[in-house]
Amino acid sequence: MQNHEDSSVTLDGIQIRYGGNVAVEDASFTIESGEFFTLLGPSGCGKTTLLRTIAGFNRQSSGSLRIGTVTIDDLPAHRRDTGMVFQNYAIFPHLTVWENVAYGLRARKISKDELKVRVDEALAMVDLGGYGDRMPRNLSGGQQQRVVIARAIVIRPRVLLMDEPLANLDAKLRVRLRNDVRKLQQELGITTIYVTHDQEEALDISDRLAVMSNGRVLQVGTPEEIYASPQHMFVAKFVGEGAFIPAQLQDGGTSARLANGVAVPVRLPEAASGPCHIGLRPEELRLANAGEDSLFAGTVVSRSYLGPQVQLRVDIGVEETLLLRVPSAECPRSAQPGVAVGVVLVSADVAVFANDAAAERE
Ligand code: ATP
Repeated sequence: MQNHEDSSVTLDGIQIRYGGNVAVEDASFTIESGEFFTLLGPSGCGKTTLLRTIAGFNRQSSGSLRIGTVTIDDLPAHRRDTGMVFQNYAIFPHLTVWENVAYGLRARKISKDELKVRVDEALAMVDLGGYGDRMPRNLSGGQQQRVVIARAIVIRPRVLLMDEPLANLDAKLRVRLRNDVRKLQQELGITTIYVTHDQEEALDISDRLAVMSNGRVLQVGTPEEIYASPQHMFVAKFVGEGAFIPAQLQDGGTSARLANGVAVPVRLPEAASGPCHIGLRPEELRLANAGEDSLFAGTVVSRSYLGPQVQLRVDIGVEETLLLRVPSAECPRSAQPGVAVGVVLVSADVAVFANDAAAERE
């Protein structure tokens, strides 16, 4: 069931409108053959609209779509060779698990023997080998979602499209099933486009992802690129945590001065001077030891115990508090709300974001 043909998906200037409203604006990127690619963004940013357009359920108002070298703009959904898995399972309640999976294949002219081989194979792949005779109502939520996945892969689509397929499951099951989905995708080598608003899930499961906001694709990259080198403040805030603090570029763009007068070294500024925001991830900061020099002087405003770490918020006299995560065993008991602390910058320089419209957009 390996997929060797060119099943890349190319979006070229895709714009999608609902009446006068633009839901997706100028989406242009290529998803490579065999890639697990995620559309990530907050509710309403246009992820589902984009996925449904690739599936052929919506029509773009401009731009073009290709699978491999074939332009699919004029192909109806059922001829695009895609399999869909939705958030709300669409299982036929009156059919057994086996018949549910066989359903999509029956319309195709294949022999009884092949039908049996393929349905059994798909069920085995989602670990439901012994469940063919069950009725869907006698399955757990996770098992039902596996049936839906089996039904999508049994037709051996060139591209698998998944819209928040795990959203209805509890947290533990979601993590387990997403590992299974990833493993299955790698075994099949099937190009997969996955929609989620869960940044942790997106980082964990994807080869690459596109971060969307307000109908725009802000950045496409590997999980590492997106987390470590966000191009927009929105991306940095949505994927990961930290303090994002207004500042002024100075010294030819090598540092940024905060409202409290502290100058912080910054990386890759787009300008030599002017207003910006700096981004400080928790892992870029640590508490100063007694007597140690530190870049920031502040006051602890909150302390919460997270198990392996203690989370501290520290007021340094600017708009936002710094966020620190200290290994629980190393966090001094004295670091309590109201207590003065020094905060050391661990990284050589920090992310900086121009105050352009995209950076401001939430
Ligand atoms: P969610 O995670 O909540 O599903 P999403 O990122 O998938 O959100 P979409 O469902 O694609 O977002 O919606 C994008 C925008 O298009 C939203 O502003 C939404 O209100 C609008 N929209 C979606 N479907 C329709 C429709 N059928 N008619 C009109 N507007 C729509």
